[in-house]
Order: sequence, then C-alpha cells, then structure tokens
Amino acid sequence: MISPFAFDNSYARLPDRFFARLAPTPVAAPAMVAVNRDLARDLGVDPELLDSADGAAMLAGNVLPDGAEPLAMAYAGHQFGQFVPQLGDGRAILLGEVNDRSGQRRDIQLKGAGRTPFSRGGDGRAALGPVLREYLMGEAMHALGIPTTRALAAVTTGEPVHRETTLPGAVLTRVALSHVRVGTFQFFAARGDTEALARLVAYVIERHYPELGQSDQPALDLLAAVAERQARLIAMWLSVGFIHGVMNTDNMSIAGETIDYGPCAFMDAYDPATVFSSIDHAGRYAFANQPRLAGWNLARLAEALLGLIDSDVERAVTRATEAVEVFGRTFESELLQRMRRKIGLEMAEKDDLALVHALLDAMHKGAADYTLTFRRLADAALDPALEDRVAELFATPELYRNWAVGWRVRLTRESTTLAERSALMRRVNPAIIPRNHRVEQALEAAVERGDLGPFRELLEALAQPYDDPGARCAAYMEPPCPEERVLATFCGT
Ligand code: AMP
Ligand code: MG
Repeated sequence: MISPFAFDNSYARLPDRFFARLAPTPVAAPAMVAVNRDLARDLGVDPELLDSADGAAMLAGNVLPDGAEPLAMAYAGHQFGQFVPQLGDGRAILLGEVNDRSGQRRDIQLKGAGRTPFSRGGDGRAALGPVLREYLMGEAMHALGIPTTRALAAVTTGEPVHRETTLPGAVLTRVALSHVRVGTFQFFAARGDTEALARLVAYVIERHYPELGQSDQPALDLLAAVAERQARLIAMWLSVGFIHGVMNTDNMSIAGETIDYGPCAFMDAYDPATVFSSIDHAGRYAFANQPRLAGWNLARLAEALLGLIDSDVERAVTRATEAVEVFGRTFESELLQRMRRKIGLEMAEKDDLALVHALLDAMHKGAADYTLTFRRLADAALDPALEDRVAELFATPELYRNWAVGWRVRLTRESTTLAERSALMRRVNPAIIPRNHRVEQALEAAVERGDLGPFRELLEALAQPYDDPGARCAAYMEPPCPEERVLATFCGT
C-alpha cells in the first residue's frame, strides 16, 4: 500500500537482538474512531489519507504501508520494584519513523496490534476504553505543554477482547520521540551485553541528545542528561496534579516524554498521598512519591550503565551517583519555580518555598480542589473581592484566609502589575484538566453505547486548557460531586 508516511527507520537498522521483526496481526473489521488531524499535519501526513477505510485498515495493522519495517522492541524493567529481565513490546508494533515538519524524528507505533514474541500470557490486544483513555490523556498533557507521546488515531477492530468482561477491541496509533526506555538499557545490562549497551547509548545520544555527540564520557553524560529531563518532566506533572500510576522502569522514556497512560489520573482534592491505580496497593506511585520513584528508576539506569562509565566499579559508582544527583537538584529548583509562578511570584525570595508549602498544607487540610484553587487564585490576584471564591473551595475557609494574608504581603514586593500577574498565573494554572469522572463518562458512552460525542467534546475542551472556557466547556472545570468521584483506575491490559 502506498504509504502516507515518509518512513526512515533508524531503529530497524540496529542489530537484530534489539527487537523481533514481525507484522501486526490482521483484525476482522477495522473502523476509524478518531484521527488526530493536527498531529497528522505535523507529521507531514494528509489527514484525509488516514481518515478513510484504507487508513483504518492500515492503522489496524491489516495492510502494511510501503516503507514500514514492523518490529517489536526488546526491553526489560522493574515492575513495582521487581526486576523482570524480559518484557518487550507484547502488544505494540513499531511501524517505523518519520521526520516531522520541524525535522524531529518520531516513532509511529501500533498499540494493540497482536501477539509478539514478547507477549508472554497476553493476547496482544487493547480494549477500546483504555485506547481512548490514552488518547485523551496524551492530548491533554500535550495541550498543557508537558512532553508526551500522542495519539495519531484510534481504530476499532471488530473483535472482542476478553478482560474481566468482554470488551470491544481497538488499536491506538502512538507517536513518540522514541520508545526507548530505561528498561531497554536494563535488557542488555541483564545479559551482560556491553556491546549492545554502548550501541544503544550512541543511538540515544544521536537521536535525543545530539549536544552530547562529542562527549568523551557518553554513558555518564547521557545519564545526567536523562536525569535532568526527567526532573523537569516530574516537576511539570506535580505542578498540574498528574499521577502517572505505574512508573515502572519500562514505562520511563529515555527521551523525557510521559509515556504509557494506564491507570494515570489527575488529582481533584489535594492530597499528596493520592493513589488511583487499582494495582498500586502500597501507594508506591502516589502523587508525592513520584519524584522519589523517578530517582529510584534513574539509579536503575545508572546500574545498567556502570560498565560503560568506568572499568573500576567503585569509581563508576561514585561518578554515576554524582550524575544521578542532577535529578534532585533540577527537580527541586524546577518545581519551586513552577509553584512560585502558580501563586503569582516572578521574583525569587528565600521564604517562597515555605509559602508554597503553607498553601499546599492548607489545601490538604481543607480538601481543596488542586486545579480550581490555583485557577481562582489568578482571579483573586486581580480582584481581592474574588477571594471568597477561593476560600469556598476549602472545607474550612479560614485555612485559605489565613494563608492569603501572608501571600498579599509577599505580593507587594513583586514588580508586575495586577493585570500582568493575573495573566501570567492563568498561563500556568489550567482551567481544564481531564478530570477522572469526565474521562470515565466519555469512555463509558463510547464503550457501552457506541456514542463518541462525549469523547469528542471532552477532547475539544482539553485542547485549550489555559483559556477561560466558553459556556459549552465550563462544566468541564467542575470537580466531581460525591457520587461522581472515581476512586480507582485500571490498567485495562
Ligand atoms: P504495561 O503495563 O502496559 O506497561 O505493560 C507491561 C508489559 O506487559 C509490556 O511488556 C507489555 O507489552 C505487556 N503487555 C501488556 N498488555 C499486554 C497484552 N494484552 N498482551 C500482551 N502483552 C501485554
Ligand atoms: Mg509499558
């Protein structure tokens, strides 16, 4: 089939032990559910070519486009702390890579495309609900300005998948800077394959960190660079209340994108211990644990790279430890800078961190909605008469009022005008996030009733998160009422 994609597949040129070559397994009746037209254009692809019967057949895996070199990538990973030496793409197949309109190389992958040599007991398939969930969450993150993989399309397969119940099957076309993970390095380290590790380091530097191209200590510099990108990413997650839910090392992208939207969710009422994932019994990946666990994952990456860092183990450990410390430093300063902005501070003062913590503490005690508190704070920054609208979000409004006294004093030392300050705050405090109850409603309508209306409306509302929503989208700002609250989210694998 003539391809809408101008493929140029660098990963397929790596040695055979990096992957298994195989084509997707065809499905009974491909049907297009959603095409991401803006993303298609960014990739230099005509959206009309995708949004057609031929496009559906191609993105369901029934017809291979010219130039595709389909493969399932090998990787390992620590899952909830337990090392699994072989995971790999058990239900995803990389079709190939394209250079987008800005010259950036992007992977085109079909998720849910059938069994592979890495499937273990799984069926290689995905269900419609989780596919649409990944579509919504990725687009929401992208609109928020957070690095993420994105959905190019979702198709249904016309085949059932069997989970706890029988569900409609679907395939997601996922676009990523690459699908190399921390676990990809662990795969080769576990086999003592130093040659493959060195090859992977060189590949990742060329593709994602070209500024390190001349490095005389590539593995060490790559480690520090990955740590820095992860630190920025996790700071962004925390600043918007995002909980990934399953930060295993196989779900941590080496390019610093948010990847693998399973049980992820945004927090409504602020509580640092929030966990949604039904499989995260110990709260390992709770909201406030995310920076610590990202650091833990980076230590696993460091371990995998030790042999390339120094032939003397002790020296290698010392140097790798120093490199990973970049994470903590970058994370702290990045998060502080973001939180400062969220409360309208452009200048840095030494007590700012304490002021931020005092607000978070009040929000926690008062079960205040994370997103709405900051958004309304932007209004109150412009017009103190609107403070009541912030205070009413707290179970005990005094919690907010007491904090606001110190905040007002601190604001007097800022040089921005009221209007500037409020506008800057709005640019970092979203009005609309993909609230769990809205996501669930949209998925339920699609899966139970074949009604894609709520999915499309939510997707549209999520596209402009920092604007004041018009009347049509205003309801998406609202937190759930008690009976709408979602208590658990599921991987759906
Ligand atoms: P995840 O929890 O989606 O990050 O997946 C963890 C591992 O399980 C990866 O190796 C996946 O490829 C594999 N996996 C997840 N779901 C399936 C499935 N339905 N069939 C085969 N493999 C799967
Ligand atoms: Mg995964």
